[in-house]
Amino acid sequence: MLLLSGPNMCGNEWKYVKECLDTGWVSSVGAYVDQFEKMTAGFAGTKYAVATSSGTTALHICLVMMGVNENDYVIAPNITFIATCNAIKYTGANPLFIDTDEKSWQMDLDLLEAFLTNETEQRNGACYYKKDGKRIPVIMPVHVLGNICDMDRLMSLAAKHHLIVIEDSTEALGSYYKGKHAGSFGLLGTFSYNGNKIITTGGGGMIVTDDEVLAKKAKHLTTQAKSDPFEYIHDEIGYNYRLVNVAAAMGVAQMELLPVFLTRKKEIIAFYKSELAGTGDIEFQEVSDDVNPNWWLPTIKTNRQRDVLKILNDHKMQSRPFWVPMNQLRMFTANVYYNKTDRSDFLYKHCLSIPCSTNITNEELKGVADKIKEVF
Ligand SMILES: *Cc1c(COP(=O)(O)O)cnc(C)c1O
Repeated sequence: MLLLSGPNMCGNEWKYVKECLDTGWVSSVGAYVDQFEKMTAGFAGTKYAVATSSGTTALHICLVMMGVNENDYVIAPNITFIATCNAIKYTGANPLFIDTDEKSWQMDLDLLEAFLTNETEQRNGACYYKKDGKRIPVIMPVHVLGNICDMDRLMSLAAKHHLIVIEDSTEALGSYYKGKHAGSFGLLGTFSYNGNKIITTGGGGMIVTDDEVLAKKAKHLTTQAKSDPFEYIHDEIGYNYRLVNVAAAMGVAQMELLPVFLTRKKEIIAFYKSELAGTGDIEFQEVSDDVNPNWWLPTIKTNRQRDVLKILNDHKMQSRPFWVPMNQLRMFTANVYYNKTDRSDFLYKHCLSIPCSTNITNEELKGVADKIKEVF
């Protein structure tokens, strides 16, 4: 099976992991955790980075730190991976969905502005949903597939309406907007190192921020909120959300490879774009000139989505439809969904992601493109 986006362990992973096993530094503290955090902060251009057990737990901790609770809403795009909304629900809050832009596949900022202008009111420096008077403390933009929306506009809308920005930048390691790295715009940003992401630690995540207090708090909360170095005194309800040293060892090796992976992802998308140009109605995600995306997961849009999915998967070339829009999942059908034409549903029914592991060969890429062309 040609994996959609599989791990590529072609650097120092084995060496660093072996060192952990040989020395016994496998668990919750260790030099690799510190090094992985430093490398990530350096790469993302933030002052601090705090490693976590997954991208989902990174998002959860960010929301906990902002005091988000069951009386709140958090604004999120209607097309995202479920982890965004699961993290919101863990706090008891409800996601409030904004429809997706049909070209960039990010949250539609025209709709967001209309929503904020017409449906919310500002009181005492906070944002409230007019219909039920509940607070909306946070907006969580998701950099879907490593693309980024107009962040200048999003940040100014958020500031105007008193919303804290927590970036779900879990898909956007190596993506930039006007030269600034994804995850460094909001008060807090997050990364994921799940097996299908651009780099992987098997499983893992990271919180990035320029705020020293929040960075310390994140470390505290992810390590059971222990407040005394010797005695088991804990000053609040904490979480066991830390990344283990053996995973961080893999992370350090993968960070060393990230520039190579980014180059390869760009070659892959360039190949697909040129090879599939003029093939049926195929379109790619539109990226603004302000954005330099990581092209984590090349995805095409076509009326023949089901046919392309079938031919590729029948030939053991793993491909996947876009996520089912959040408002269509049974947990969220009753949630607020702000839309005009339900473009999320259209994208869900037309988009599919195609094989793009960084270790895919050019012959394999050609094989995928040829199979897609066969459909047309
Ligand atoms: C991968 C991902 C996450 C976090 O996933 P984990 O598997 O928990 O690391 C969160 N949001 C989005 C949009 C993702 O793609």
